[in-house]
Amino acid sequence: MRIRQMGFKMQKIEAIFISHLHGDHFFGLIGLLSTFSLLGRTKELSIIAPKDLEPWIFQTLRISDSYLTFQVQFVATEKNQSGTIYETDFLTVKAVPVKHRIACHAFLFSEKPHPLKIHKSAIEEHQLGIEEMVQLKRGIDVFRENGKTILSVDVCEPALPIRKYFFCSDTVPLKLEDEELFDVDLLYHESTFLEDHVERAAHTFHSTARQAADVANHLRAKKLLLGHFSARYHDLSLFEKEAQEVFAQSQVAIEGSTYSIKL
Ligand SMILES: [Zn+2]
Repeated sequence: MRIRQMGFKMQKIEAIFISHLHGDHFFGLIGLLSTFSLLGRTKELSIIAPKDLEPWIFQTLRISDSYLTFQVQFVATEKNQSGTIYETDFLTVKAVPVKHRIACHAFLFSEKPHPLKIHKSAIEEHQLGIEEMVQLKRGIDVFRENGKTILSVDVCEPALPIRKYFFCSDTVPLKLEDEELFDVDLLYHESTFLEDHVERAAHTFHSTARQAADVANHLRAKKLLLGHFSARYHDLSLFEKEAQEVFAQSQVAIEGSTYSIKL
């Protein structure tokens, strides 16, 4: 319902990533899958989640006499295991173990390098063939039989920078060391509590806004998006304020809003 109310196209959803099996992170899934079926979805859906979710999905469907109109490609995350778990032509996703009350993974979404764009004038000037263009767009230089060399860097526009988004929830604040996680364009980090409940945060394996900001600093993230707020707080601007004292580019995530990955 919320997805439809926001005018987001459900067909665009190709994969669903579930960090861990606490109810607030997956109880809604079965309703969503049912709605996909009611709308006649046929496109395969990938679900990346802890392995216990798979039997739960199919048991729930069975006892409610429901079925899906599409195939599910289930990919299980392994406790404490890190590695690439999903890949398309445009991006790769790496699962990164974090520390919560139960097994939990954060996800790093990294764009693949964009194919280079060839200057139009260069196509005519060098009478480039299709295979030559494919090669040059990949950054590979062309050596013709007549001895002529065409350098990719001479005929292509500079490569667009790739973008990285790191989703990190639910977890205690961690000093992650994996180099790939540094310098991300956008870090989403949970901040269930403010510093007024720092002990409760530790006890429940969650983070405060300030701790999330410390993680953003440690990872040299360009921007921080805070989320997963405890229902006890009514004024979300307090989260932003607390985080901004340590990391200026902090923002709270409001349901239904869109946030750009690049600054
Ligand atoms: Zn949790």
